[in-house]
Amino acid sequence: MEVKTGDFVLPGDFLATAEEFVPGEGAYEENGNIYSSTVGMVLVDIRTKKISVFPKTKTPPTLKIGDIVIGRVEEVRDQFLTVSIAALVGNENRELPPPRLALIHISKVQAGFVKDLSKLFKPGDIIKAKVLNAQPELIQLTTIGRELGVLVAFCSRCRSPLDREGNKLRCPSCGSVETRKLSVHYRQEVAK
Ligand SMILES: [Zn+2]
Repeated sequence: MEVKTGDFVLPGDFLATAEEFVPGEGAYEENGNIYSSTVGMVLVDIRTKKISVFPKTKTPPTLKIGDIVIGRVEEVRDQFLTVSIAALVGNENRELPPPRLALIHISKVQAGFVKDLSKLFKPGDIIKAKVLNAQPELIQLTTIGRELGVLVAFCSRCRSPLDREGNKLRCPSCGSVETRKLSVHYRQEVAK
């Protein structure tokens, strides 16, 4: 496996062999290999064996309040987490330069009081979030709402993508049970 979820790739980049995976959106198969057909972010779904690339589009970078973005959690601190924004959702005419760092304050993670941010997010998680403040020097996001939150989480022991079981996540490889601030679309969609 050459690439992993969250990687940025270019058209023609090798993603995986067709023995291991099937091409999803933004990917194609040629001579037994799967390649990216676009500039974008990789999503590897181990369960469905599908590898997809969610495109970045071609006009000048802008970000507006209310935009929905996909990003990767970089760091989880006491009062906030940082997220690198990878893609805008549902808008094919705008692009973001990779990577743009944004911040989610502990008060904007979910409705109600949050005691421990590290129980809701881990570095490497792929999340869906909404833009609260679009100033270039400080992009602020929120994950309050059912649609928003973690889309793909990885085991903190062995890095396997975690399976959802009710409100918890379980590692299919090592059995570790973890919690996150889950989106209702956990491992169902990324760029809709
Ligand atoms: Zn594990």
